[in-house]
Amino acid sequence: MFSEYLNTHGYASMCLKTVMFDMDGVLFDSMPYHAKSWNHAMADFGLDLPVDEAFTHEGRTGSSTIEIVMRRQWGRSPSEDECKEIYARKSMYFNEFPEATRMPGAYECASEVRRMGLTPIIVTGSGQVSLLDRIERNFKGLFKSEWMVCARDVKYGKPHPEPYLMGLRKAGDLQPFNSMVIENAPLGVEAGHRAGCFVIAVNTGPLSDRILLDAGADILFHSMTELSHSLAGIITSSGTSYRS
Ligand code: CA
Repeated sequence: MFSEYLNTHGYASMCLKTVMFDMDGVLFDSMPYHAKSWNHAMADFGLDLPVDEAFTHEGRTGSSTIEIVMRRQWGRSPSEDECKEIYARKSMYFNEFPEATRMPGAYECASEVRRMGLTPIIVTGSGQVSLLDRIERNFKGLFKSEWMVCARDVKYGKPHPEPYLMGLRKAGDLQPFNSMVIENAPLGVEAGHRAGCFVIAVNTGPLSDRILLDAGADILFHSMTELSHSLAGIITSSGTSYRS
């Protein structure tokens, strides 16, 4: 399973120590709320961002999503104030939705990583306040807060590899082959791939599998529950793949 990945990146073998989990659309079923909030906020300012398209921008910083839509429609960049205003409106709509529930299978995946002796960490572009509380309530004792990467830790959003490189650094100056990435979004998959990591795509949204595979996913599942049944096998095979 890992030989093609190792060949592509020029690594000799896997030596797994950590698994990096994206948050929205992986640990929490929050993406439909994010996509609808973007759609409503943009419409308030006369801008058009269809809900399905919002899924393709998942992982970008708010300002670069606004930049793309405004440049396409009005042929110019947004001012800093416009970015702030539109993003505040998006956050307002998002906060009107009920709290997103834990993605089915996510707890089992994180537990399995722990049970196999690896450390699960979270790498997210989100900067929501009360993030840590929510994670602790839903994944009691599974994630260490000091290793988490969130919006304030990075300068660039996905698809830039920085968030995942930062995750490797925070987890103890690890190498890409010490880690796997679990992602649901094309730009997140690309970020993990560009960071040099083995990327497990979990297609929990409305996009086609092809988009995630083309972004650089090494393997694809259709739900976190499906992944939870295979994760131990994947981790076990990482220790033997280089001998095959
Ligand atoms: Ca995501």
